[in-house]
Amino acid sequence: MDERSGRIMRAAHIGGGARHRGNAVHDTRSWETITAALDRVCGPGKSSGDWVRYLCPVHEGDGRPHNPSLGVVYNRRKGKTVVRCFAGCTDEAVLARLGLRIRDLFDRPSDHQFSSGTGSSRHESTSLADRAILAAGLSLDRRKPDPGRIVGRTRTIATYIYRRPDGRPEGRITRRHTPRERGHDKHFSQERMTENGWCSGGFAPIPFFLPDIAAAVADGADIYICEGEQDACAGRRAGLIATTNAGGALSWHADHAAWLRGAHHIWIVTDRDAPGYRRAVRVAATLWSLVDDIRIVQARDGKDLTDHFNAGHLGEELDPVPLLDNHFRTRQSLSGEVRRLS
Ligand SMILES: [Zn+2]
Repeated sequence: MDERSGRIMRAAHIGGGARHRGNAVHDTRSWETITAALDRVCGPGKSSGDWVRYLCPVHEGDGRPHNPSLGVVYNRRKGKTVVRCFAGCTDEAVLARLGLRIRDLFDRPSDHQFSSGTGSSRHESTSLADRAILAAGLSLDRRKPDPGRIVGRTRTIATYIYRRPDGRPEGRITRRHTPRERGHDKHFSQERMTENGWCSGGFAPIPFFLPDIAAAVADGADIYICEGEQDACAGRRAGLIATTNAGGALSWHADHAAWLRGAHHIWIVTDRDAPGYRRAVRVAATLWSLVDDIRIVQARDGKDLTDHFNAGHLGEELDPVPLLDNHFRTRQSLSGEVRRLS
């Protein structure tokens, strides 16, 4: 029942409009135009709360199966249709694939000013994450300084147990450091729980501290998605309900997100570097249709959440990440607006 087509949703939206205004057909012209083009180019949409989801024509148009990233919603008060690729494609790029322009987002484009030409087209090939990385003055690639030679023995720094919602252990991460002249190398190894105890190898894709996370989803409490176990533990010590995934910044995927379905308020705490920003977009893209609200924030001082707390800051003093926070936040404010009006 959840998988209604965009065409049916469109009829529902028009019906809602007609109750408010006599002249509904003209009022929803942008919605008609955009969804007809999406139905044609991307196939039928699926309803998801106030939004209709489609495969993104820019980055999901390869004919292979994807979890749809493109959301479309009609803003009745503004007479405007919102299209948003939650993986970060620009509105201009999405519309170009549909043979449409920004002015087509409005029921009455004559009421609005549009810049002529293709001033924004240079962004079309640049991802949202890359634009945010450059806007923050960070480097797109990760060039690590030479740490020098090994100056000591590798030793275990910490072990972290991943548990099922009932507390049963599922997996274990061991963190080891090898000292170098400048800093240290980090090594992580994974084990999974079997009938015969711990065996080396990967384990099921579950969030860290899952018993707490499951309870927080049920209670509607805020959840902080950190980068790595060390930051998740730092968040927990500071009183936050914090989690992460095993296997590094880019190992988060839809199976982790599924455990957060129905959560109220998610804070994605990103490291201040290119992999961190890319991870934040990836995490948000898996969550946007599952949770009420997403914020993307970073340490006020230093690189990560551990640095933030070590500098004496509080959880509520995390700073929004320019471009990224707004991209995913806008969805909420628009969705809320639509809900209030309908
Ligand atoms: Zn896209």
